[in-house]
Amino acid sequence: MQLTTIEEETFATSQSELSGDVGLDDESADAGTATFEREKDLSIENNIRDLLAKIERALTRIDAGTYGTCERCAKPIEKARIKALPYVDLCIKDAKARSRR
Ligand SMILES: [Zn+2]
Repeated sequence: MQLTTIEEETFATSQSELSGDVGLDDESADAGTATFEREKDLSIENNIRDLLAKIERALTRIDAGTYGTCERCAKPIEKARIKALPYVDLCIKDAKARSRR
């Protein structure tokens, strides 16, 4: 008998949660934010993976003795650019050309 009462109460509670008692607008807004946060986390994760891949390629180029030269035109990459982005593999001109595509 007691178990039935508990089940009924649980059912009643979940019913009221499903109905409009909870601010549905607030809830969907929160859900949207959560999705946005997840996507932001994913894009940060992708950025970090991308960065790590770039750093790994830079380390390979250091081993090969080609570090600091452009992968496309083989000219030295601008010193200021390497200082700002030590893992870059393209000179400014070629990086611009690539981002335009
Ligand atoms: Zn270049």
